Amino acid sequence: MREFQENLYEHHSQTFTIDAELYRGQTEFQEVLIFENRLFGRVLVLDGIVQLTQRDNYIYHEMLTHVPLMAHARTKSVLIIGGGDGGALKEILKHPVQQVVMVELDKDVIALSKRYFPEVSSGAFEDGRVSLIVGNGFEYVAQTRRQFDAIIVDSTDPIGSGEALFTRSFYAHCRKLLHPGGVLSLQSGVPFYNPEQLQAVCGRLAFSFEGVRPYLAPVPSYAGGMLALVAAGESHKALRPPIKTLRERFQRLHLRTDYYSPVIHRAAFTLAPRFGSCAKANAIGSESAARPA
Ligand code: SAM
Repeated sequence: MREFQENLYEHHSQTFTIDAELYRGQTEFQEVLIFENRLFGRVLVLDGIVQLTQRDNYIYHEMLTHVPLMAHARTKSVLIIGGGDGGALKEILKHPVQQVVMVELDKDVIALSKRYFPEVSSGAFEDGRVSLIVGNGFEYVAQTRRQFDAIIVDSTDPIGSGEALFTRSFYAHCRKLLHPGGVLSLQSGVPFYNPEQLQAVCGRLAFSFEGVRPYLAPVPSYAGGMLALVAAGESHKALRPPIKTLRERFQRLHLRTDYYSPVIHRAAFTLAPRFGSCAKANAIGSESAARPA
C-alpha cells in the first residue's frame, strides 16, 4: 500500500494512505501532491505539508473567515493573502461584501484546486466581486494604496515563500491598509507542537495592533489537532463580541455554516493557560528575538 508521510515535526510524523494518486508536480514555487485517501477524501500537499483535505477544510476556512467578519460586522472590502484553493474566498462571499482582492503567489495552486477540489471554492473565483492578483502578498501589502475592512492571511507555514507573511513588517503594512475598526486573521500552526510560533506571531502583531487574540479550531488533518488562529484589530474586546450581538448578526446574515456558530466563536477564544496568553508576547516580539519556526 502506498503512503504519504508528513514530517512536519521532529520525532513525530503522520501517515495517510494514498488510495489513488491524482497529481504530482513542481510549480514555479512549490512541489504539489494531490491524492485520494479513504478517510479524508482528496488531500492537497504543498512541499510535503498537508494544506487541506476535502473532509475537514470547512472547519479551517469557516473559522479563519467568519470570526473576523462577524466581529467586524460591516465588512465591505476584504483582502486575502494566499488562499489559492478558494475555500476562504467562498466563505467570505457569504457576507454582503462589495469587493474581495485575493493575492496568491502560485497560479498553479489555483488551477489545480479548481480542477481537483471544485467544491472547495464552489465557483467563488467567478464571482464579480473578486479581483484575483497572482503575485507575492508581501510585496502587495508594501505597495498598494487600497484600503480594506478585513485582511485574511491564508498562508502556508513560515517556510519558504510563506515566511515573509509571518514577519513584523508584514503585519505593520497590513495595519496601514485597514480602515478604522478593521480586522485581520491568520493561521499560526499547532500550538501543542509549536507554542513558540504562536507567541512570536502574537508578539509581532502587538507592535501594530491593540487587540491581538489567539483562538482555536480543531482540524483533524493537521497533526496535533488544534490549530491556532489569531485575530487582530483595534481592540481586544471587539474581536469577541457578546453572544447576543453575534446571534443577531448571524441571524440577520442567514449564514449557512457547518462548524462556525456564535457559541463556537465565543468558545474558540478560550485557550488552556499554557497556550492562552499573549501577555508575554510583547517581550519576545522583536524580529531578532523570535524568528519564525
Ligand atoms: N488552508 C491551508 C493551510 O492552512 O495550510 C493553506 C491555504 S493555501 C493553499 C496557502 C497558499 O499560500 C498557497 O497556495 C501558497 O501558494 C500561498 N502563498 C505562500 N506564500 C505566499 C506569498 N508570499 N504571497 C501570496 N501567497 C502565498
